[in-house]
Amino acid sequence: MNDCLFCKIVAGEIPAKIVYEDEQVIAFEDINPQAPEHLLIIPRRHIACLADAKPEDAALLGHIQYVIAELSRSRKFAEPGFRVVNNCNADGGQEVGHIHYHLLAGRKMEWPPG
Ligand code: AMP
Ligand code: ZN
Repeated sequence: MNDCLFCKIVAGEIPAKIVYEDEQVIAFEDINPQAPEHLLIIPRRHIACLADAKPEDAALLGHIQYVIAELSRSRKFAEPGFRVVNNCNADGGQEVGHIHYHLLAGRKMEWPPG
């Protein structure tokens, strides 16, 4: 966990463009944006991936969804819309082993994903 990139961002050891923070989560700009708006929302507490979620994590993960909704309203893309992505483990395409939700907006998204 000490080598976790996103734990280092939470600790302020690696810089990030933080757009929202509270006692449970932070949101920051993705360093390699895939849309005009591309934010990452993460819990401060290390959880490796969604498949590791436990009953005691349910409120925290629900809070992340609420934060995403607030961000979509405050950043004015609730309409026309946005996409939330969670990549979990190897087949999901997860590269950073600290649970994170991609919030993508500012263009029309395509389906199915690659
Ligand atoms: P994933 O493939 O779902 O694990 O996504 C990891 C995301 O983290 C990618 O979109 C990367 O561009 C992003 N990323 C990696 N390093 C940083 C960093 N230092 N600051 C912000 N975003 C990062
Ligand atoms: Zn971590």
